[in-house]
Amino acid sequence: MSDSGSATPATPPAPSPQDVLADLTSRDVSRILRASSTINWGSRELAEALAPHVRRIDTETDNLDYAGMLHSNANHVVQAVSVITAAAEGRCVCTTYHGWMFYEPEKLEQLGRVEILSHTEPGWSMTFECRCTLCDATYSVEQGDYHYMWWQWSKPPKAAKRPKLRYRTAKNVG
Ligand SMILES: [Zn+2]
Repeated sequence: MSDSGSATPATPPAPSPQDVLADLTSRDVSRILRASSTINWGSRELAEALAPHVRRIDTETDNLDYAGMLHSNANHVVQAVSVITAAAEGRCVCTTYHGWMFYEPEKLEQLGRVEILSHTEPGWSMTFECRCTLCDATYSVEQGDYHYMWWQWSKPPKAAKRPKLRYRTAKNVG
């Protein structure tokens, strides 16, 4: 049997939050990187299960040599900590997308996380308009190519975080 014909590997069973936590606090770089990828693409439930441990995870993943060729692998770990922090603070995971260059809109759409509303002419360099299916926030995403493909998400909309104004200003009333 050969699986050379399959373009995408079969999805492995999702690891339990306990397994992911054990990896993250192992001080073993390869285990931490694997767990970080699981979190960065993982479910809200996984991030929420890890949220109570976010400080410990932050400390235990610090000061290790993650290496990386064109892109520092430490960024994957920093992103995983941001995803867990967002869950701990009750923020939607989409508020962290601008912090990591690997959130490919099509991949997130396949996972049901975003809806691609529109995009420019397909090519190496293009722009997507995306809507988060969890909280409805919209983002523009710039795709570029510099040795590897990257995606720069716009910052989360400020309105999502800003408290409601108590008084309306009379400025625009006419
Ligand atoms: Zn969202």
